[in-house]
Amino acid sequence: MAFVITQNCCTDASCVPVCPVDCIHSTDESEQYFINPAECIDCGVCEPECPAEAILPDTEPGLEKWLELNATFSAQWPNLTVKKPSPADADEYKGVPDKFDKFFSPEPGGN
Ligand code: SF4
Repeated sequence: MAFVITQNCCTDASCVPVCPVDCIHSTDESEQYFINPAECIDCGVCEPECPAEAILPDTEPGLEKWLELNATFSAQWPNLTVKKPSPADADEYKGVPDKFDKFFSPEPGGN
């Protein structure tokens, strides 16, 4: 079992410093974080830290898409070890419908 980060992620990064195994991954340019399910020890301490309620246990129903996305991109992107400053517009993206489909890039900063 692991936890997964869903589209409500606002990259506030409050989850990063509490993770005891540094298994939260992203890039400097991405507006989405992911948890590596092979590294997550299921401690659950990140879940209440997220101000956007984007972190859920993988036992929640309907998370198939997010299980795959977390596994795929956490394996490709570096893990985060320190909390970076929250984006200035982090609050604007909390709860935006279809945020992931509208804004996610698998190659952030590319093109
Ligand atoms: Fe890290 Fe624990 Fe959250 Fe897994 S559940 S991502 S190990 S803080």
